[in-house]
Amino acid sequence: MISRSSDKPTVVGPSDWFTGAVYIDQVATPQAPARAGAALVHFTPGARTAWHTHPLGQTIHVIEGICRCQREGAQIETLLPGDSTYFEPGENHWHGASAERLMVHIAVHEHDASGSAVAWGRHVSDAEYAGE
Ligand code: MN
Repeated sequence: MISRSSDKPTVVGPSDWFTGAVYIDQVATPQAPARAGAALVHFTPGARTAWHTHPLGQTIHVIEGICRCQREGAQIETLLPGDSTYFEPGENHWHGASAERLMVHIAVHEHDASGSAVAWGRHVSDAEYAGE
């Protein structure tokens, strides 16, 4: 079966979960008993997720631009196209674009038994985003 892009409108990332303009295209939506989902996420310059965790972890793979990400208690890290990173289950973190470049990544994550793949926290402040 082929899933056509024309049947899957791009979703705007909700402001409760993101700062700035973010656009999400679903790549894979799991059908039970499968649990793996994937999304292609476009972050405009300066846009980022809120702090969050994934119950079963998450891999992000950068396609375009410059990715900034941070695990709680650590320094902000930079990922370039072709780079990937894995966030452990329950590891509090955020990811997003650099201030001056669009960033696109694929995100791969498993849904838990309740169907959840993410637990959202508070927004990343401008000072946190600046690494202050
Ligand atoms: Mn994440």
